[in-house]
Amino acid sequence: MIITKSLENKLRKFAKLAVKTGVNIQPGQMLIVNASVDAKEFATMVAEEAYLAGAGYVDVQFSESNISKLHYKYASDKYLLDVPEWSIQKLHYWMDEKAARLSISSPNPEAFKGVDPARMAKASKAAAPKTSFFRKFSMASGSQWSIVAWPNPVWAKKVFPEKEENEAMEALMDAILYASRVTSDNDPVLEWKEHTTRLDEHSKLLNNYHFKTLKFKNSAGTNLSIDLVENHIWAGGAEVSLNGFVFAPNIPTEEVFTMPHANGVNGRVVATLPLNYNGKLIEEFYLDFKDGEVVAYGAKKEEETLKQLLEMDEGAKRLGEVALISHDSPISNLNILFYNTLFDENASCHLALGNAYTMNIKDGNELPEEELIKQGYNKSMVHVDFMFGSADMEIDGITYDGNIIPVFRKGNFVF
Ligand code: ZN
Ligand code: ZN
Repeated sequence: MIITKSLENKLRKFAKLAVKTGVNIQPGQMLIVNASVDAKEFATMVAEEAYLAGAGYVDVQFSESNISKLHYKYASDKYLLDVPEWSIQKLHYWMDEKAARLSISSPNPEAFKGVDPARMAKASKAAAPKTSFFRKFSMASGSQWSIVAWPNPVWAKKVFPEKEENEAMEALMDAILYASRVTSDNDPVLEWKEHTTRLDEHSKLLNNYHFKTLKFKNSAGTNLSIDLVENHIWAGGAEVSLNGFVFAPNIPTEEVFTMPHANGVNGRVVATLPLNYNGKLIEEFYLDFKDGEVVAYGAKKEEETLKQLLEMDEGAKRLGEVALISHDSPISNLNILFYNTLFDENASCHLALGNAYTMNIKDGNELPEEELIKQGYNKSMVHVDFMFGSADMEIDGITYDGNIIPVFRKGNFVF
């Protein structure tokens, strides 16, 4: 992909958006940037914009998915299943510094094709207990964090198979910028302020209704009842980190989301988009829930990968998030399957298997974990979103005094 003058102008805005709106870097603060080597030029722009915005230090950590694949394939168990002390110390250092973290994600949907899923699961399981302190810090937004996306040739060809590689890269770049609300003649930082305010208004309305249960139904076969934890909080758009700064965790974002009750989900959900998990594409799948737990499931493709996911731990069989997105949104109107959660989840209502966000329950960041679990919080080492929204999705909210309030009709919010 050639970075023309006009693209460079947009990428500068994109970098500013990531730094100012995404992580909202503070004077003197440390910024950790995780980037794929595919995003070398953009990572450099981000580093420069971060320093210009006053960052104290920008630490860019590059990765290359082909090397990660080799690691899963060939590394000896001794190293594959070990988390060395120095890498744990590094996470502690970032936490102590309250470093902001930005991920420039360039997912390769075929990254782990041919890798034994059991070996990948073994490695994640071995690492999870040693790094759980950092996951907890991240999920509670201990400091600001954000994700933006960057194209790569494999991803671009997956999304636009009929185009030549270079054209596909340009088309995916355009789609990423459009979905992220970066155009040649706007101020994306300003536009995001307005956008997140709109999402906040939706959250406020849902919080005022204080629903006990949400009921979902569509012609794809979803017929699902989800109890929400009693003290749930709807969130979306901008967030405030524990160190006190407003930030936008996902660029793009269209969702408002909250916490399902870990034991209160019943019925069937049918996915409406494939799920990319560990580089494998799980297609045309359904899950049957009873009292919060997945008791039956099936998939046309990669059922084995779905099984691996559900068996990661106890919490992987239960829900940690329910998110509502109008079918009529910029990303779904693009009508592109991105094969990537950051985009596809913003095109459609979604659920997540696994860990819940403590910010989705009152006092969630202060209460001890046992108390949260008592209230219906789901704990897991995974958090995997999958899409189930559709143009004919109907959602009703049931209040504590039994009133039925229409929330979605024909795929969109009614309010
Ligand atoms: Zn979500
Ligand atoms: Zn999620």
